[in-house]
Amino acid sequence: MTLRVAVIGRPNVGKSTLFNRLVGRKLALVDDTPGVTRDRREGEAKLGDLSFTIIDTAGLEDADDETLEGRMRRQTEAAIEEADLCLFMIDVRAGVTPADEHFAEMMRRFDRPVVVLANKSEGRAEEGAYEAYSLGFGDPVAISAEHGEGLGSLYDVLRPYADEAAERDEMGGADEAIVNVDLVDGESVEGEEDDPSKPLRIAVVGRPNAGKSTLINQLLGEERLLTGPEAGITRDSISVDWEYNDRRIKLFDTAGMRKKAKVNQKLEKLSVSDALRAIRFAEVVVVTLDATMPFEKQDLQIADLVVREGRALVIALNKWDLVEEPQSELNVLREKCERLLPQVRGVEMVPISGLTGRNLNKLMNAVLRTYDVWNIRLSTAKLNRWFDNIIQYHPPPAVSGRRLKLRYITQAKARPPTFVVFCTRSDAVPDSYRRYLLNQIREDFDLPGVPLRLILREGKNPYADRK
Ligand code: GDP
Ligand code: GDP
Repeated sequence: MTLRVAVIGRPNVGKSTLFNRLVGRKLALVDDTPGVTRDRREGEAKLGDLSFTIIDTAGLEDADDETLEGRMRRQTEAAIEEADLCLFMIDVRAGVTPADEHFAEMMRRFDRPVVVLANKSEGRAEEGAYEAYSLGFGDPVAISAEHGEGLGSLYDVLRPYADEAAERDEMGGADEAIVNVDLVDGESVEGEEDDPSKPLRIAVVGRPNAGKSTLINQLLGEERLLTGPEAGITRDSISVDWEYNDRRIKLFDTAGMRKKAKVNQKLEKLSVSDALRAIRFAEVVVVTLDATMPFEKQDLQIADLVVREGRALVIALNKWDLVEEPQSELNVLREKCERLLPQVRGVEMVPISGLTGRNLNKLMNAVLRTYDVWNIRLSTAKLNRWFDNIIQYHPPPAVSGRRLKLRYITQAKARPPTFVVFCTRSDAVPDSYRRYLLNQIREDFDLPGVPLRLILREGKNPYADRK
């Protein structure tokens, strides 16, 4: 089955225009028999080398019965159900309207990825799109369906979904549901909300022999994992369900995976793909270090993967029972960590012993705290009060004689916290100033141990002209 993409939005934002552009005018016209009320149209769309099915819900507004609203809702919901991905279209010239909000609300009830298309952006792409952030679906894509602008960005957004759909085909589309259950790394934590009814997903990763299996066994309180080096161990599951203080938890068991692999390998190596798989599965990643040889190259490599994947990070200093002068050693390691991992300044480091079980509660509490930071949402008002101050005390530098203007900041999403700053000449803002802003956000809003993202956009303060 090819990728199925639904275009959703209120009347007149430009859905049919996009449909026609991607499917080809002729085809759509043929399909569009006059006098026939069609609630949904489907077409085979092409964009560069991508082919996908596009589902359009336009045309509903032409119906004149009084149940129009109900029908629209039903049809839109049906289109969302059928799609792998929803393109939620707004008209940037009108801004975000109450009707848009209404549709956004509807989309949030479904478990489908949503990308906002900021249509009618011709000639002033970035500027028009900023309001779309307030819908909470992340980075909008500025396009002009009528003028064919921004289609390259649309392509970039669709590409990974098309690849995923193709992969699913290879694995046999019929078994789709089963495939999803088995392949833990098919799950995505992006775009999800913090939902306490769902288990918190934790991965324990680290170099071979750091003590991962021992730690997991100790946490689970029983010999659930096989720590022995016997050959022929096979494990079916790669995640283990567990509870900590009434919080449901899914623990990703990389150790088990490795033990299985070890059967065929004389020399143990860190498998980056195993680690990556575990990291992608997880919301919080516990990077386990052997405290008797901490912060080796591989340790830093793993921590860096966690940061790049945008996951929350906690460091377990394992085998602490072997450390001779714990207090001074801890200070040394704290200092080292700040220096070697500046991307996650303030990350929680907990000395533990997987062997004796010491400090495992502390470790779990650090995990829960870091998870909360990762999910945090800061209000726009609060952020901008802070922002005004920052700019006053430490204004951005002048570049080639002209001052850069930073206008407005908002949090585009959580998990990890991602901020958008609207400014003039975003390309000219030096990296050092970006880092300064991020460090300052981290410090002033107390966000230790999680990756933070900052996106610069050109555009005006959306509240400047309003009351
Ligand atoms: P739908 O109801 O969402 O399917 O919207 P249509 O595709 O019928 O478009 C509504 C109106 O917006 C039409 O007059 C289109 O010509 C116009 N329109 C669509 N895309 C664009 C665009 O990118 N820029 C501008 N300026 N107008 C557009
Ligand atoms: P993994 O490869 O990361 O899963 O590591 P294992 O859990 O298999 O542990 C590797 C070795 O370190 C084993 O000999 C463990 O007994 C030992 N080990 C694990 N945790 C601790 C600890 O907290 N203290 C001490 N002293 N040894 C540990």
